Amino acid sequence: VYRCAPLRPPYAESAENPFHLLSREVESHPGIVVYRGASIERTAGGPGQFDVTVRQGERLLKERVGSIIVATGAGAYDPAKLTRLKNLAYGTSPNIIVSSKFEELALRGGGRVARPSDGREVRRAAFIQCAGSRDPEHLPYCSAACCVETLKQAQYLLEPDPDCTVFIYYRDLRANGQYEHFYKKVQEEGAVFIQGEVVHVADRGGSLSVEADDLSLGCRSRVEGLDLVVLATGMIPDVAGGGPEQGALKLDYRQGPELPALKYGFPDSHFICFPYETRRTGIYAAGSVREPMDLVTTLEDAAGAALKAIQCVEMTARGQAVHPRALDVSYPEFNMSRCTQCKRCTEECPFGAINEDAGSNPLPQITRCRRCGTCLGACPERIVSFKDYSVALISSMIKAIEVPDGDEEKLRVLVFACENDAYPALDLAGAAGLKYNAWVRIIPLRCLGSLNPVWIADAMSRGIDGVLLMGCRQGEDYQCHFINGSELARTRIMNVSETLDRMGLEAGRIKMVEVEIIDYTKIPAILDGFADELAALGPNPLKGF
Ligand code: SF4
Ligand code: SF4
Repeated sequence: VYRCAPLRPPYAESAENPFHLLSREVESHPGIVVYRGASIERTAGGPGQFDVTVRQGERLLKERVGSIIVATGAGAYDPAKLTRLKNLAYGTSPNIIVSSKFEELALRGGGRVARPSDGREVRRAAFIQCAGSRDPEHLPYCSAACCVETLKQAQYLLEPDPDCTVFIYYRDLRANGQYEHFYKKVQEEGAVFIQGEVVHVADRGGSLSVEADDLSLGCRSRVEGLDLVVLATGMIPDVAGGGPEQGALKLDYRQGPELPALKYGFPDSHFICFPYETRRTGIYAAGSVREPMDLVTTLEDAAGAALKAIQCVEMTARGQAVHPRALDVSYPEFNMSRCTQCKRCTEECPFGAINEDAGSNPLPQITRCRRCGTCLGACPERIVSFKDYSVALISSMIKAIEVPDGDEEKLRVLVFACENDAYPALDLAGAAGLKYNAWVRIIPLRCLGSLNPVWIADAMSRGIDGVLLMGCRQGEDYQCHFINGSELARTRIMNVSETLDRMGLEAGRIKMVEVEIIDYTKIPAILDGFADELAALGPNPLKGF
């Protein structure tokens, strides 16, 4: 780019592009090795001991690293797709260009922008925001940086020549945080901001016009005699520098070479609690590779990811989990003599922490493990356990629950509560003095994904009248610290419903609810409601057997 949007207070002036300075600093740093013109052939291992094979021309180099930060940035939306937006007339005139082309012209002219058609200096221009963005047919999301980039590009024209005329068409101008100062400055410099929908762009003999439904004036307005129209296009996910499906890291993981994506193809992160963590432990995403963002946010993001990467190296060296079970030193142990190679653990581990050998035997990669216990819940042979968390341990807790016999007029309700949201919600309900049915007994689980169906069978055969699973919200805006615990638990209880049927038990004795920590006030209604449903079913017919 020719210049950058403001990087420092008072955030009113565009900044010199720091790229060359930064790259010199990085290359001369004794602790940093830079491979230019290189790509990654393979990334194996895990946190603390990633083995990365780098290709540089014909050379293959090996590096062992403790953690990885992916900062490959985003790609630009393909302008060819804008030809489908007929109102913008892209492709019909050399003087209707996209913002990256404008930047290229400014860079080439040292700040002076010449019209592509005849090289004449641009003195009257229109910028159109959200070209193909926030549009379900193109990019359904906001790219966060385009508005500020347009403000900067408007300044390229207005600062050297205040007699230039610049129109900026926008839906909502998104100059977040400190960039409000920049927005104000560009207004003061004379840019004309028009809120509305552009309905028509045309080029008549080199003179361009823009027609828009102007929201402020409440009518259609038309600007003529323009030298240039610039369409502000958005960012696309580009983990690999060639599309997210390629995978920049070529991960040697059983679950594929790329960082799993969640929404719109950007690599997934737990946007509430762990924004930098990808679904691959020890690999952190920074900047617009993670989500569209502007430069100032990217700088902050990079600092955050770097700190997480350092923390990962240090904690892994001590044998500790980094997150979300920070400091946990337990890890899953596999009693391989009874493994049937069913692959459930390798398929269901949300973090790709279990590879497979040629004979389909699970090969745990311990430093990738986040200690969620999903493998423990998945294993039908019940051969996965932690020192402090196992099928036998939870089964013994179930056995320790006192179960009223059929003659007593009370039932017993067992709640398996995820320790991340549901259990704290139960705690908060208690702290708030909320009361709920006294039939309830609670066992916390690391995650509902660690639910082994045998616990439900254990509870039912003990005579417990109903089992309630309390987990986190699932779906696109999932809350689960381990990605998909509730989905996995739901699938597993569907699989046990046949067994319950054979035991002569009603499906209504097992129920699942999604609870957020802030839902603690709903706890009494949830628990009392389930107790009422069980009372209507009557006692578990297996009581006493
Ligand atoms: S505990 Fe979780 S992260 Fe670790 S191996 Fe098992 S499923 Fe994977
Ligand atoms: S789920 Fe259990 S039995 Fe199946 S492959 Fe994994 S360890 Fe072996």
